[in-house]
Amino acid sequence: MTLDSPRADFADPGLHARGLFIGGDWLPGGGIPVTNPSTAGVLAEVPDASVEDAMRAVDAAEAAAAGWRATPPRQRAEILRRWFGLMTDHAEDLARLISLENGKALPDARGEVAYAAEFFRWYAEEAVRIPGEFRHAPSGAHHILVDHDPIGIAVLITPWNFPAAMATRKIGPALAAGCTVILKPASETPLTAYAMARLGAEAGVPPGVVNVLTTTQPGPVVSAMLADPRVRKLSFTGSTGVGRTLLAEAAKTVVSCSMELGGNAPFLVFDDADLGAALDGAMIAKMRNAGEACTAANRFYVQAGIHDAFVAGLTARMAALVVGAGTDPATQVGPMITTKAVTKIDRLVSQAVARGARVTTGGAPLPGSGYFYPPTVIENVPEDAEIAHEEIFGPVAPVYRFETEEQAIRLANSTEYGLAAYVYSGDLSRALRVGKGIETGMVAINRGLMSDPAAPFGGAKQSGLGREGGVTGILEFMEPKYFAVNF
Ligand code: NAD
Repeated sequence: MTLDSPRADFADPGLHARGLFIGGDWLPGGGIPVTNPSTAGVLAEVPDASVEDAMRAVDAAEAAAAGWRATPPRQRAEILRRWFGLMTDHAEDLARLISLENGKALPDARGEVAYAAEFFRWYAEEAVRIPGEFRHAPSGAHHILVDHDPIGIAVLITPWNFPAAMATRKIGPALAAGCTVILKPASETPLTAYAMARLGAEAGVPPGVVNVLTTTQPGPVVSAMLADPRVRKLSFTGSTGVGRTLLAEAAKTVVSCSMELGGNAPFLVFDDADLGAALDGAMIAKMRNAGEACTAANRFYVQAGIHDAFVAGLTARMAALVVGAGTDPATQVGPMITTKAVTKIDRLVSQAVARGARVTTGGAPLPGSGYFYPPTVIENVPEDAEIAHEEIFGPVAPVYRFETEEQAIRLANSTEYGLAAYVYSGDLSRALRVGKGIETGMVAINRGLMSDPAAPFGGAKQSGLGREGGVTGILEFMEPKYFAVNF
């Protein structure tokens, strides 16, 4: 096997640290160590792109733009379908790579690869169904024709918590729409992005259509790209704070923005819920990726009649989870991404405890060289504790008691975030009524998982702008063009 074959030990981190991927070439370099959060050891080093490198990537995306836009949708679709196939063929190696650089347990990493690849299959199917409209003007005097053009060069920025899926959720619709892209993955987890770029090239993505660069100066590098009039789209997934900064930056050149930002998901359990099902759902909603998910249940509101049984059941299940290195086959809960993340979780839990909350399991960082925090349940949490208002992004379940439906809705909405919510109730009318009252872009009813490439994912309030996935996701990368027609 040569180094250029994706089948040569594809899970080897060193293989994916070959350079910036610009215009189909690998531009070697170093400067960003990639750490294994399970051990704190360095896995590999990737290049640290400068503003000049970023401009080279814009040049490459521009050079490829006309050709890709003119490529028939069927052909674009077939390339995406092949990329799906290659990700599926390499699923186990990709899962291992994700687990190494992100720390997530292998079952979570395998789940992510399957979910991530599915965006390529879904958008291969959508590429050939780009919609248009033909209408009669109300006056009857002329016609209205609406076409959709690729919006132009797109800058895609992704976080570290789903290194594969957050990239495919953007690349899939962008390529299906006919756009060329520059992906800037989080520097904590760049290897997965580079690995996928290799598979994309093998699938037949032409040089320059997908460019990938890593940098320790995301501010100046991204600002320079947004200031370039050739860039017409910013699709960002990350924290609300950085999202706000980028919206202001994009305003200077009026770049179209899609924003998938932070969450503070409420998980409501009513007295009439099936307790076992609610606990199953709670474990998924809280513990997928060890709680490092924007949709992670951040606040458990449980009605008084079922509260104590729910806390007891959740405590038993959380206490039974096996914590360990992500790649250890026995592990169910991997480490946090950084030591900083552990410190933040510890601070939120300690503050809640100081204000009267009670820990029923877990409650303090684990010793060792990796960044471990144990599955934790805290009850009797005051409504105004900081943990109720900040994203925990870790394996901590704070439980709050409520009495009435109105109170539950008020508590659920008492946040600037509006990404996701969960409702457990045996009465579907109540669950839907409550779901209508909650100000979020997504509501899961009697389910602990809502992510689905076929569904519109996104947030209300300060959790974002626009939607990814589903039939509308492709429109985020298209500019509608209206023709006023007489004939
Ligand atoms: P982050 O905002 O710190 O970083 C996200 C990305 O932005 C990274 O690639 C980072 O390098 C880049 N970045 C940071 N500062 C920048 C700047 N000034 N200019 C340009 N780019 C910059 O977020 P994170 O810690 O990587 O990820 C966790 C956050 O992402 C959480 O808030 C989580 O809720 C959110 N998230 C949201 C979704 C969603 O779909 N809504 C999905 C996953 C994660």
